[in-house]
Amino acid sequence: MAETIFSKIIRKEIPAKIVFESDTVLAFHDIHPKAPVHILIIPKIEIPSAREINGREHAQLLGDLFDAANQIAEDFGVRENGFRLIFNCGPDGGQEVYHLHMHLLAGKKLGF
Ligand code: AMP
Repeated sequence: MAETIFSKIIRKEIPAKIVFESDTVLAFHDIHPKAPVHILIIPKIEIPSAREINGREHAQLLGDLFDAANQIAEDFGVRENGFRLIFNCGPDGGQEVYHLHMHLLAGKKLGF
């Protein structure tokens, strides 16, 4: 599958408001925020969607994504009040960018 704009963000070829980076994970502000805090947390390797995830192969990476989410929630002061983590998957799931990403939404009481 062709690479996405997120690969260019990982390579710092296009700008993003980066809030977290490790060897395996990058996180940055969503360009069209749906909540006061809206961060995208992505693996640095190219995985198109949650459909390509299996526990045996990706357990560590998934742990890294969740560790990043908790760290970011702490940094933004929203860990205690809570937050929402979303993976949109495929056309019916509303996925637009085919590079696996976790949305972290917080900062208000979220409806559905
Ligand atoms: P999804 O619909 O789950 O694929 O979400 C893709 C998200 O990426 C959307 O919320 C977009 O607003 C966001 N997005 C697209 N391009 C960029 C970009 N260059 N920088 C930050 N966020 C982006």
